[in-house]
Amino acid sequence: MVGGARVSDSYTDLEIQGAGMTSQRTRDRMAERLQEQGIRHMQVLNVMRRVPRHLFIEEALAHRAYEDTALPIGFGQTISQPWVVERMTEILLECGPVGGRVLEIGTGCGYQTAVLAEFFSQVISVERIQALQKKASVRLQRLGLEHCEVIFADGMSGWPAGAPYSAILAAAAPWGIPEFLLEQLEPTGCLLLPVGKGESQELTLVQWSGQRWESRTLGQVKFVPMLGGLKGA
Ligand code: SAH
Repeated sequence: MVGGARVSDSYTDLEIQGAGMTSQRTRDRMAERLQEQGIRHMQVLNVMRRVPRHLFIEEALAHRAYEDTALPIGFGQTISQPWVVERMTEILLECGPVGGRVLEIGTGCGYQTAVLAEFFSQVISVERIQALQKKASVRLQRLGLEHCEVIFADGMSGWPAGAPYSAILAAAAPWGIPEFLLEQLEPTGCLLLPVGKGESQELTLVQWSGQRWESRTLGQVKFVPMLGGLKGA
């Protein structure tokens, strides 16, 4: 196409590599810090060394992309801190459902989506804020992650059209475990989500025991609430 960019234009190698505070060295240091904090899952760490987190954040904040902190992405939302992204991915992989289809609720900027894309054959991600959904969709496309689909939808009731899933991960906290999400899981699948009303919530893993759904809590995390309804551009 002559004149003007297409949305499908890929990022250049230089953009992906980054420089200075967004360089490979900075990504490696982030992974080292995660290891110092007790993270041992080398496969996930290696993926986080590769995924250019700085391209998921507005340029003005890109130099802070590899700090272990949540950062604003607009519309009152934040990109999850690297430690949380690593832990949630690691927990899903330890449940066993690698390779299948995964549903993510709350795309945000799409960083967790891109990390999941390395381990699952299809990632369906739903986001209730249209401007975020559009941006994340373009980003993932520009990174060549064609097996990621970002849908503008309220994920409160999951995304039944893509069910059953090997795993469901939510990046926003409902007050309790939504039953209809369990109905969209394969029998061997698992649901990982923050649960609770307050400033911090319990990271909760739900799996089928053969007789019933069993849930385990895995520590306190801080996520935004899962809200119903859509927010157009
Ligand atoms: N892992 C993401 C986290 C984004 S914050 C990242 O690193 O960018 C959580 C996101 O969940 C927000 O963008 C918010 O709009 C979205 N969200 C909250 N409730 C939702 C719902 N019911 N359906 C879909 N998305 C929802």
